[in-house]
Amino acid sequence: MAVAGSACPRRRRLLILASSGALSATAARVCAQAAQDGDALLLARPLALPVEGVPASALRDTFLEGRPGHPHEALDIMAPRGTPVHAVDDGRLARLFSSVPGGLTVYQFDPAGQLAYYYAHLDRYADGLHEGMPLRRGDLLGYVGTTGNARPDAPHLHFAVFRLGPEKQWWKGTAVNPYPALRRLG
Ligand SMILES: [Zn+2]
Repeated sequence: MAVAGSACPRRRRLLILASSGALSATAARVCAQAAQDGDALLLARPLALPVEGVPASALRDTFLEGRPGHPHEALDIMAPRGTPVHAVDDGRLARLFSSVPGGLTVYQFDPAGQLAYYYAHLDRYADGLHEGMPLRRGDLLGYVGTTGNARPDAPHLHFAVFRLGPEKQWWKGTAVNPYPALRRLG
């Protein structure tokens, strides 16, 4: 359920704003380009699945689902509390952050600093995890939980991907649907 910041309007809202003239054609084009570009970048990454024991065939595309007050733009991957969560890619641990919606979260950047991977509602972090550390695909990040606004009886990993802007701010980006890139892994 958690949501992270976005530099561009959400993808569906973008169309509405652009067609009503509330957003300039140039701004709309830049945002649409960022979304497309993010899709291509993600599909080019050699990824691993984030939740131990949950195969690609069990994933559900919850990216376009609505959530109270905002579109979801992430995958919810259901798993028992305490299930290990692993890094989907190599890169760097950009930020460990605790937020009201996301609870215990991890922001990871890909090796080129173009994509951010966001893991939320963790029950706890893996021992020794710290900001700035290099990560390898498959590294243990933490454990599935219900911190933040997840229902206590529905532990899951909220997993999102963002196309970072040139400033590479960990809290800002254009949402990319991780489903196609993860689903093809199995
Ligand atoms: Zn979610």
